[in-house]
Amino acid sequence: ASREMKRDDTTIPLAQDTIGPKNFTIIAGPCSVESEAMMIKTAEYLVSRGVKFLRAGAFKPRSSPYSFQGLGIEGLRILEKARTETGIGIVTELMDTENASAVEESADIIQIGTRNMQNFSLLKRVGKCRKPVLLKRGMSATLEEWLMAAEYIMAGGNYQVILCERGVRTFSDHSRNTLDLSVIPPAKALCHLPIFVDPSHGTGKRAYVPAMSLASLAAGADGLLIEVHPEPDRAMSDGAQSLDFAALDALLTRLKALAPAF
Ligand code: PEP
Ligand code: MN
Repeated sequence: ASREMKRDDTTIPLAQDTIGPKNFTIIAGPCSVESEAMMIKTAEYLVSRGVKFLRAGAFKPRSSPYSFQGLGIEGLRILEKARTETGIGIVTELMDTENASAVEESADIIQIGTRNMQNFSLLKRVGKCRKPVLLKRGMSATLEEWLMAAEYIMAGGNYQVILCERGVRTFSDHSRNTLDLSVIPPAKALCHLPIFVDPSHGTGKRAYVPAMSLASLAAGADGLLIEVHPEPDRAMSDGAQSLDFAALDALLTRLKALAPAF
């Protein structure tokens, strides 16, 4: 992952778009796959706004075992249907080695969540996958630990790794996490991989997502992972931090003014 090994920025060509520094990329969608109807509706809306990747979890790492755990394999089928109907690329989380083949087949980009950043057997498994991996920063990981997690994936032969800052744990309680945008310049200096920011989990509150999205672009991020839901107040997970379609529209307009390439 180090620039000592490879000086030039890594770009990741996908059917929908190329991920990397020359191309600010938006990945958007609900926290969880809830139903086929809401996923198709969201995918159609995103495609109409030029967004090329849909995020949504079929397997959900919830803090409480009594919370909605995701639709599992059925959720993957729904995501595949959304891609077939709209052409949108699919980003979805893999939580364990058991479901690796299923998620690898359905996803265009495999997400590894913050709680699994140092799940080394899972990292080794996705190192054998042929799909790019979006690696979220562990909620208390240093930059070095995060880059070493990327290294685990790359050591297995999968060089298509995208880093994603999603906030870390601090004493601050005004937001769900502390979005560490100050990690972007040093990460970019040390490492040639693309870096995304997730301002939704980073703040936990939808009102703060636009400001942190614009700040991410200014700080040098290569893209954003944003939670958006047709009816955020009825979402089965993370509604408080999810934008509605109108709010995403407004944000995209502001981002496009600053990053005309996307
Ligand atoms: C998510 O993207 O919905 C998610 C669970 O993210 P994180 O791993 O950053 O908490
Ligand atoms: Mn979420």
